[in-house]
Amino acid sequence: MSSARDFEGLNALVTGGASGIGAAIATLLLARGAQVAVLDRDTGGAPEGTLALKADVTDDAAVKAAVDAAAAEFGALHTVVSNAGIGAVGTVTDNPDDEWHRVLDINVLGMVRTARHAVPHLRRAAADRPGSVSITQTCSIAATAGLPQRALYSASKGAVLSLTLAMAADHVREGIRVNCVNPGTADTPWVGRLLDQAPDPEAERAALAARQPSGRLVGADEVAAAVAYLASPAAAAVTGTALAVDGGMQGLRLRPA
Ligand code: NAD
Repeated sequence: MSSARDFEGLNALVTGGASGIGAAIATLLLARGAQVAVLDRDTGGAPEGTLALKADVTDDAAVKAAVDAAAAEFGALHTVVSNAGIGAVGTVTDNPDDEWHRVLDINVLGMVRTARHAVPHLRRAAADRPGSVSITQTCSIAATAGLPQRALYSASKGAVLSLTLAMAADHVREGIRVNCVNPGTADTPWVGRLLDQAPDPEAERAALAARQPSGRLVGADEVAAAVAYLASPAAAAVTGTALAVDGGMQGLRLRPA
């Protein structure tokens, strides 16, 4: 089957789907034939045609209600993209415990809660659509790259990477595939906000671009394409993997020009 409508008959839930990478994922899955629900704490930017469900991933009951609502509205749930997350800047001496708790609650436990409530629905769907039932989590190159000034953020994404592998092992025989994408710095509203806080936003943008061997930021649509592949029937044999979408940041060691 061509990739054009390969999500026909599949129902998806995208957390953090109202902005940036999540909105690009929701838009692409919709275009490829899925019914798509967006779970977000601010649904204002949920792409047209999606089912917008307002929930905060730190609220377990609200996540359960939203996941159940998506499954009830669509009749089944096949594709979960756990993408909601926030950034955090600083070294290990910069952030107090309450900031660590706040970020880990969103970036790690948010994905745990989403999976906890989605897996029962995915188990039911797996029998009908073998190979097409999956969870894809938005991790980050920060999980493995050793980036400066990102101690808390990197630790949160390191946990997401390990969680991805453990979940993949736990659910592989149930027909639920679990993978993650590791974007490099992507051009999203979040990065825009980060740049706005820099003394010289244009110089900061150039520095972030130069950090990637490709010399440019990654597009949200490029991350979405990788997520769509991992969630698609074409990736039926792919589970427990982390796909870098980072302009070569993880794999390449270029000599300075
Ligand atoms: P973004 O700020 O543009 O979008 C994030 C979305 O998540 C927003 O719609 C926001 O409302 C939602 N969200 C945040 N906290 C939430 C919560 N507690 N409950 C429910 N929804 C919540 O950010 P983005 O750049 O698109 O980032 C999306 C994901 O990609 C994050 O997990 C981020 O860590 C990851 N990521 C981003 C980059 C990058 O450079 N932009 C790089 C690697 C990984």
